Amino acid sequence: MDPDRRLIEDGAVLMENGFISQVGRAADVKPSRRAEFEIDARGRVTLPGLVDTHVHLAQALIRGCADDTSLIDWLRKFVWPLQGNFDAQDGKVSAELCMLEMIQSGTTTFLESLLHSRYGFDGIAEAVDRSGMRGILSKTVMGLPGYGSEKSIVHPGMIEDGETCLREVETYFKRWNGKGGGRIGVWYGARSLGGCTQDLYMKIAEGATHLGTGVTMHLSEVQEDVRYTKKEFGKMPAEFMDQVGLVGPNVVFAHGVWLTEKEWALMARKGASVAHCPSSNTKLSSGIAKVPEMMNAGVNVGLGCDGGPSNNCYDMIREMKTASLLQKARTMDPLTMNAETVLEMATIHGAKALGLQDQIGSIEPGKKADVIIVNMQKPHLTPTFNPVSHIAYAATGSDVETTIIDGRIVMENRHVKTLDEQKIIRKATEHAADLLNRAEIKITPKWKTE
Ligand SMILES: [Zn+2]
Repeated sequence: MDPDRRLIEDGAVLMENGFISQVGRAADVKPSRRAEFEIDARGRVTLPGLVDTHVHLAQALIRGCADDTSLIDWLRKFVWPLQGNFDAQDGKVSAELCMLEMIQSGTTTFLESLLHSRYGFDGIAEAVDRSGMRGILSKTVMGLPGYGSEKSIVHPGMIEDGETCLREVETYFKRWNGKGGGRIGVWYGARSLGGCTQDLYMKIAEGATHLGTGVTMHLSEVQEDVRYTKKEFGKMPAEFMDQVGLVGPNVVFAHGVWLTEKEWALMARKGASVAHCPSSNTKLSSGIAKVPEMMNAGVNVGLGCDGGPSNNCYDMIREMKTASLLQKARTMDPLTMNAETVLEMATIHGAKALGLQDQIGSIEPGKKADVIIVNMQKPHLTPTFNPVSHIAYAATGSDVETTIIDGRIVMENRHVKTLDEQKIIRKATEHAADLLNRAEIKITPKWKTE
């Protein structure tokens, strides 16, 4: 994924002190001293770690808890009451479960978009630190219990006060930003339209400038966003965000399904990125983002898995395939969104969205050693003529064998070294059952269970 997009056969990567120091043909890569360890990656593909630009850590615990339902029921009957009953222990185990899945499917960096206070920010940040992952945690900022034009709709357990939110972001920024050897970041997670006053959005923009940090927000995920800003402010959603100072290179908008040509031009000019979440958009019937057109207009677009009730998995390799096939079907053009494009979105374009393009997203000397190894010695990956095609169309996350982040082997032969897999699965199962009880929600199969 370097600027020349080289594929190196019989290649080797040398990593030293957390950085990539050499990459090339194996015969040409020469460590100055004997390597501490060596990984034989013959029959495998070595790639930059994948970057998930839109994740909800706290939704892994409610995976499969809101299927095949309308968006409004999805939120009101399931997701909000469940998240509104979270405590800090639920938040931590959900984050651990989510990171376990991400590491096992080759994601090395993620952008978490909305951490409400009740999920326990510190516990989650500690879990990220321990996991070895690179993660940006966005603390929710909201001031209104609304969603679009619906004024009072958010579950009482999720409601937070604007001024408190702003103070908390500053506190967590000072406590966690740059920690874990620079792996952890803290951003503003602005709640969707209807969740903040115009004044609060402006304060978020000012705060982000003051701290020199980023902002992420769901935008134009649903048509209601367009109706809302047109009615309230006489503007399209991205134009409204620009008016409050929230369109810039430090901003990632999730979804962008209903953005228009005029808004793409604005975002391209100002350098804001979009996190495209094709599985979530299709499962929730939000619509299909015009990603190839958006990219042609100059907008940087990364990929996102979104959450456990909307996807329902955190597997970026599967997401690449969905992203590609969806556009081919929509445009009836098989040349669009090719394998190379979706791999760029999952790596270097994602890195750019997070402002980390000089540090991650490609295997190049000087970049952080975030590298994954995919085992190609599998029936569904044989024969291999074009590895990029296989990664985009034939592989799944479970083909990732080794995950290295910051030069540390976080997963080897599919065993995650930093998180206790069996313990987390057991704890997550218990916490999820307990959470459903507290929220008085029952999830049962539609078919009779004997
Ligand atoms: Zn989301």
